[in-house]
Amino acid sequence: MDKLTPKETSKGAEEIVLTQIKQDFITPANAIFDYVDMVEKVLNDLELVSEDEISQIKSSCSKLIDQYDEAFILNTGVNASTNKKSPEEYSELRHNLRTPLNAIIGYSEILMEDYEDDLEQGAIDDFQQIINLARDTEKAIEKFVDYIRGDSIDLNDDNATSQLENAESLFKSLGDIEYSITLSDEIKQSDILIVDDNITNCEVLQRRLSMEGLKCRTAYDGNTAITEVFRKTPDLILLDVILPDINGLELLKMFRKEHSSESLPVIMVSAFNDVDSISKCIQLGAQDYLPKPLNGTILLAKVVASLERKFWREREKELVDKLHIQATTDQLTGIFNRRVVFEALDEAMENANEAQDREFTTIMFDIDFFKHVNDTYGHAGGDAVLISFAQLLRDEITSPNIVGRIGGEEFLAILYLNEDQALEFCKKLIKKINSNLVNFDGTDIKISTSGGVAFSSETSTSADLTNKADERLYEAKKSGRNRFQFINSELVGD
Ligand code: GH3
Ligand code: MG
Ligand code: MG
Repeated sequence: MDKLTPKETSKGAEEIVLTQIKQDFITPANAIFDYVDMVEKVLNDLELVSEDEISQIKSSCSKLIDQYDEAFILNTGVNASTNKKSPEEYSELRHNLRTPLNAIIGYSEILMEDYEDDLEQGAIDDFQQIINLARDTEKAIEKFVDYIRGDSIDLNDDNATSQLENAESLFKSLGDIEYSITLSDEIKQSDILIVDDNITNCEVLQRRLSMEGLKCRTAYDGNTAITEVFRKTPDLILLDVILPDINGLELLKMFRKEHSSESLPVIMVSAFNDVDSISKCIQLGAQDYLPKPLNGTILLAKVVASLERKFWREREKELVDKLHIQATTDQLTGIFNRRVVFEALDEAMENANEAQDREFTTIMFDIDFFKHVNDTYGHAGGDAVLISFAQLLRDEITSPNIVGRIGGEEFLAILYLNEDQALEFCKKLIKKINSNLVNFDGTDIKISTSGGVAFSSETSTSADLTNKADERLYEAKKSGRNRFQFINSELVGD
């Protein structure tokens, strides 16, 4: 029979095959724990006595994994050749490895039978799944013992052949791919804070990262880390879980109060390689997790990925901010554009309709004889006047009040003022406008403005309100300009 022994395969592929063999065992073995947890919860909820059986299943499962781990170490890699056994010894190993399975399957069957009538189908299925998983681990044990016995992989077995071929091709790919990371200058400029009480660890980390051109600071305890972050927010923190004063998880919580995980990514570094602490770190807002002892390649890959994500987000945010500014401002004058003021007006009107204390005043402005400014000083002179006038309005009308340019030389303001207050405001404003001189090309340009004033109490729609303001603006123009027209009165400038 055609046989392909492990020795004929490359060392790298052999490692991959071994990893796969171990994986085939470990996956179902770990899953048994998960299912036991689930059925235990169901049994407890139903108050069905099962503690002894459950603890037997759990301890057998631990034993199953421990024994396998031990056998794996003793019979693979460097230990493989020194631990050759007789066929009987291999049978014994197989038998010993399988022994805990009897308890797992046996106790599961007992519980399943005892509580058949009390449990729902889902729970029964979970028990069945435990038994199936136990059988899967049994098959994986067979394969493992065959393999270490040098019993080779049967070439007539299609599965085994393709498994080996896959392993060879994966190994080849790994060799072909040159692993190198090119860091952009932006990433190299980033500021990394390493927090670890073990000075050697700190130094190793710092050395590894600075070899790649990255800049690092270090802190040997929690309080120093806090001071460092306060002094200057780093681009990334590598945070040890165990520290002498404040533990890493508490520190992470503190940092998260002030900084989002986007603005301050944190990678936790810890020797606790258990699922619980890793998931807690992630829950608390750590971006990633690095187990100790550190692998240099993975460290660099994760650090760079984290920094790249951060810079990418920052660029995205800058772009969004820029687009927002572009969409809301008037290009020439830099004050709000037509869209923003009209939206604000609709909103103000809705609020005013809901509650009386949210009444407001609106003023529509139009610069007088602006065409004449353009004709005299050119378009650039006209622009200078528009910019200066917009600036004046912006200085006088501040949040929550708002003002924007709604057309060529027309502006609209929303002021949270009542009629009396609006009158006072306009008195001051008209003085400011009259005394404002726009210096253009060595000459001072003086302008005046007319305005139409309307109140939210006069109507319930913003369209009607702007119509009223517009009508009054027209009246102000007609009766001589440089004035503000109210409902029944007018305010004339100098
Ligand atoms: P009135 O006192 O009745 O308001 O007269 P006016 O000259 O101010 O009004 P009119 O509507 O006749 O002229 C407005 C002018 O504003 C016409 C237009 O060319 C000019 N204009 C519109 N937008 C701009 C701009 O962005 N820059 C400059 N320089 N001029 C503009
Ligand atoms: Mg005008
Ligand atoms: Mg006009």
